[in-house]
Amino acid sequence: MCGIVGYNGKKNATEIVINGLKKLEYRGYDSAGISLVKDGKLITNKEVGRIKNLEESFDFSSLNSNNAIGHTRWATHGVPSKINAHPHVSNDESIAVVHNGIIENYVELRDELTEKGYNFKSQTDTEVIPNLISENYNGDILDAVFKSIDSLKGAYALGIIDGNEPDRLIAVRHSSPLIFAIDKDGYLIASDITSVIEHTNKIIYLEDGDVVDIREDSYTIYDANHNKIEREILEVDYSSQDASKEGYDHFLIKEIHEQPKVLRDVISVKHKDYKINLEDAAFTKEEIENFNKIFITACGTAFHAGEVGKFAIEKLVKVPVVAEIASEFRYKNMFIDDKSLVILVSQSGETADTLAALKEAKKHGAKVLAITNVVGSTIAREADKVIYCYAGPEISVASTKAYTTQVISLYFMAMDIALKAEKISQDEVKEIIENLEKIPSQIEEILEDKENFKEIADEIKDAKSIFYTGRSLDYITAKEGALKLKEISYIHTEAFPSGELKHGSIALIEEGTPVISVATQKDVLEKTLSNNQELTARGAKVISIIENNNVFSKDISEDIIEIPETMDLLTPLLAVIPEQLIAYYTSLLLGNDVDKPRNLAKSVTVE
Ligand code: GLU
Repeated sequence: MCGIVGYNGKKNATEIVINGLKKLEYRGYDSAGISLVKDGKLITNKEVGRIKNLEESFDFSSLNSNNAIGHTRWATHGVPSKINAHPHVSNDESIAVVHNGIIENYVELRDELTEKGYNFKSQTDTEVIPNLISENYNGDILDAVFKSIDSLKGAYALGIIDGNEPDRLIAVRHSSPLIFAIDKDGYLIASDITSVIEHTNKIIYLEDGDVVDIREDSYTIYDANHNKIEREILEVDYSSQDASKEGYDHFLIKEIHEQPKVLRDVISVKHKDYKINLEDAAFTKEEIENFNKIFITACGTAFHAGEVGKFAIEKLVKVPVVAEIASEFRYKNMFIDDKSLVILVSQSGETADTLAALKEAKKHGAKVLAITNVVGSTIAREADKVIYCYAGPEISVASTKAYTTQVISLYFMAMDIALKAEKISQDEVKEIIENLEKIPSQIEEILEDKENFKEIADEIKDAKSIFYTGRSLDYITAKEGALKLKEISYIHTEAFPSGELKHGSIALIEEGTPVISVATQKDVLEKTLSNNQELTARGAKVISIIENNNVFSKDISEDIIEIPETMDLLTPLLAVIPEQLIAYYTSLLLGNDVDKPRNLAKSVTVE
């Protein structure tokens, strides 16, 4: 996954591309590069590390151009290095390509091209593309691209420029995201709208297989069969203000603080006078009665949201639900058929593993419901029904507000199905929504307790390992806490079901090992507390997340984090907030790059 930006038009393309890349840096940031056409010559510059390094590496002011492409990389093939950075250029230095995705048959293509005399300098899969286009070039770049992509297997969004035809930029979308934007004086291509929205809100969401031939003052779109096609121009409402830090030090802490507001918004749009309103995403009673199995699939934090969704459906609808990690889903026999409902959760709507699961589900004729934050994303477009999370743009790699809005969306979906299946009454729905409506101000209360979280972060920051425990729904919250902390602090963390520790993992407990125990579920509270006694007896430093009327566990915890009381079903929304803050402050104390943790990227568009 990576960020692509390209511009062809009357303005300074170099400047637009560099600034656009900065907005896309969250998608990948191990190296960056730009190619531009100036006086009929292709000029390429690349640097390892952030866009800042690229920007400082040469004098852009002298490199005014009208046609440029840029890339911020998240390596899949070959280490992050200057040579492996994009754009990749053909041997004759006429064609430059930026690529997001993976070329699965690149070894075969590289061997064929090597036999024809081409040299390869990088370890990437991408480098075959400019050389293949160069091999197929007969005076028309579009023709050469058409011929070349017919031989590519895998996923690719491409931006291509050609020194021989300096006024043309070709964009290709195939199983990797790419949008096309129309400005007054030119055209942009980009991996998502954050980098184009300051210039224009006129967007075309390209479809799989689309190729765009962009000239300075006109464009033509071709479909997967290379036939000319018109695509709808959407006017997107998306304030570029949304992507700034608004006075916070990091996007992560800003996004944590945005949760009360976005949750209020999302709750208010999902019901009207306590009657659930899922717009077009609702299934009819007949459709619901027809489902024989329900599956939920997602990756990372979104999978934890999915697991809360599974719990909610099982509790409210009283049917079993299978939750499976998306990268496993497609390779296992899931026994999906045309009566199955498959629910996918993905913040970006571009997660390649989740998209592959979607395709697998559809292959078996299942109905697919997507829960995503990004309108017009691939998953949103390919699913039968979509529930949008309305979290606004989430820039920090570690997901926070997307998670809580996914959980809320899943609660509403579960209530809707339960109501139509006549498993719960409208009064029960009303009671749950009334409790949900209290959550935003309850989160505000937790956010006021910052000093406590800073102290806890200071206590745990030097630990070798940190464990999270919980039973039932609390175990899911424990998993999310462990993931959040490990991804931005780089401390080894693991989550265990409280009752499972004694079957092996308790051997890891040493004097002073921090254990964060999520203990909100009333029906299993006493058992969780017994497990915490077992941990304390072996030297663990237990930090308990409990509801504030629960005096019980204070005796066996070194630290207590109290959260406001809510229905058992809804505690994941509150218990996750201290976990997010502890992760943030620990990462900060350790001097890590909070918003762009090492080895990660925001939108994982490779499998
Ligand atoms: N597979 C290409 C590479 O490793 C592109 C990766 C990306 O999408 O950033 O260079």
